Amino acid sequence: MSGRAVLWDFDGTLGTRPGHWSGCLVELLDIRQPGHGLTPDDLMPFLRSGFPWHEHDRPHPELSEPDAWWRYVGQTLLSVLTSAKISADQAAADLAHFRDLYLDITRWSAFPDSAAALAQTAAAGWRNVIVSNHAPELTDLVRGLGLDAHVDAVITSARCGYEKPHPAIFDLARRAAGDPETLWMVGDNPVADIAGAGKAGIPGILVRTAIDNPVFLAMIERNFAHGDWRDWRAYCAATAPTAQDAARLIVSGTVPGR
Ligand SMILES: [Mg+2]
Repeated sequence: MSGRAVLWDFDGTLGTRPGHWSGCLVELLDIRQPGHGLTPDDLMPFLRSGFPWHEHDRPHPELSEPDAWWRYVGQTLLSVLTSAKISADQAAADLAHFRDLYLDITRWSAFPDSAAALAQTAAAGWRNVIVSNHAPELTDLVRGLGLDAHVDAVITSARCGYEKPHPAIFDLARRAAGDPETLWMVGDNPVADIAGAGKAGIPGILVRTAIDNPVFLAMIERNFAHGDWRDWRAYCAATAPTAQDAARLIVSGTVPGR
């Protein structure tokens, strides 16, 4: 083994879509049913299950074809809208437009430092691989945001059949990175990114979130408070405010706490 590589989470680390799934559903309703009166907060409670990453223990090779993945997610979104008192027929008609709206590149943005972070590690001889619990079209989003220049591979859970923190997705990412001798994970989710990588033997840097962020703590309690994820804090050895700060730490070889 030789070489060095960084595994990067995408959503919340390199790029973001404001409002995420609930925000996109409201955008859809704004277009299809002006005056509908629903807010993202109205829909959020119904979005806490039903996505592949909510069952991260379970491989899902049957969803690895993009249309199959969107059909599965579409059933969840249908359930969300009908739970919000929209008729099943109306919801199904609206959701026929969801995929295009969700993937509309104009609704996504890269963080201001993301391209510079990737360029910095690449310039220092590190490979960059994105590994994300995301839609099948993540490669297109990365390219659309202009982040692909210094990215060697994109591993998205929708195509590979595993969700972080499942160890298999980190094995795939490690292979995509050329099985390097030195490997780091950078991400904004302390369990899916940092503890997941840590259990796969990959040290991680938590970025863009505080380890005691109440939103994350609630999410962790919902999605990870079982089995051997209870000790997730043990893996959060290093934090950095931004992706570029993490890149600086990695390239300089001065990661605090290690
Ligand atoms: Mg993330």
